[in-house]
Amino acid sequence: MVKFLDLQAQYRRLKPEMDAAIQNILENATFIGGKPCQDFEDQFAKLHETKFCLGVANGTDALEIAIEALNLPKNSEIIAPANSFIASSECITRSGHTVVFCDCDPDTYTLSIPSLTSKITPQTKAIIAVHLYGHPCNMDAIHAIAKPKGIKVIEDCAQAHLATYKGRSIGSLGDIAAFSFYPGKNLGAYGDAGAILTNDPELAKRCKMIANHGRIDKYDHVFEGRNSRLDSLQAAVLLVKLPHLAEWTQTRRNLAAHYTTHLQNIPGLVLPQTADWANPAFHLFVIRTPHRDALQAHLAQHRIETGIHYPIALPKLKAYAHLKEDFSSLFAYQNDTQLLSLPIGDHLTLEDIQEVCTAIRSFFTPA
Ligand SMILES: *Cc1c(COP(=O)(O)O)cnc(C)c1O
Repeated sequence: MVKFLDLQAQYRRLKPEMDAAIQNILENATFIGGKPCQDFEDQFAKLHETKFCLGVANGTDALEIAIEALNLPKNSEIIAPANSFIASSECITRSGHTVVFCDCDPDTYTLSIPSLTSKITPQTKAIIAVHLYGHPCNMDAIHAIAKPKGIKVIEDCAQAHLATYKGRSIGSLGDIAAFSFYPGKNLGAYGDAGAILTNDPELAKRCKMIANHGRIDKYDHVFEGRNSRLDSLQAAVLLVKLPHLAEWTQTRRNLAAHYTTHLQNIPGLVLPQTADWANPAFHLFVIRTPHRDALQAHLAQHRIETGIHYPIALPKLKAYAHLKEDFSSLFAYQNDTQLLSLPIGDHLTLEDIQEVCTAIRSFFTPA
């Protein structure tokens, strides 16, 4: 059995430390704020080479709060990739702006630069650079487009903890960045949690106020904000996991390298490419084949779990029917039926990956 995700196995390995950390929160009964939250924010900012980190309730809130903090004119156009989780575009509409979908690059699945260029208008005020599957976007090219026009760059780092771009940490490469600690992410809490990173002290301050009812004092509110805080319990869980993150990320990279070596030259199978600027975090290892559904069934027969990210390209969703644009020429639009996510993660060994590779070969070249 090769599992897609195994959070129980991870918990068993961390149990003594984890139980003690949770027990400690219960005994102190400080459930909001306090030392665990502060410690986590400090350590997470440092790890991603940024000055400020704010813990929030989840990754979707992190994106929404980041956009709100940028104070863009109402109904600005914000560009998001056509292949992502809906949070990457939902945050735009939720903040009173207009979603403009951009295509994905067929090699790395991140924002396609030619497509991005073609989507810029005088109303474009921000770009959501999603480091999809853990692969960093082409940030220099994005900045070359954005900077001269004063367009803001928001990094969606929900799948990319510790990935680097030209040796620099993701999360430090745009105006502001959003992270998710949804349990299945590379760094997962035991419930919902998220964070915002930025180097801009004004943005950091605005995010903190927005996430905490616009307050400057307990009952002194400068504007109407919202409630989106990182719980102390989740901060304590994340603090136990954080020292392991670099090692878990390295495991993912080793497993991805094994897939890449052992799945070469299979006609009808396209492997993900790593751009020369990237050291990805491999949240997912996504292959592409016209025989996706049959391959997924074949792997299931071999007791190998897989996933699909994402089965319906965002512009195809009923949620975006109102856009009334013809997206059918987009790569992301045409290829959502071909994507298959293979198992990858800190619960797996090279032997597991070899088992998957062997099963894939037996599908494409039956004995
Ligand atoms: C998971 C995810 C989010 C949302 O994070 P939540 O914590 O689930 O709200 C946003 N963007 C991407 C790309 C994601 O994978």
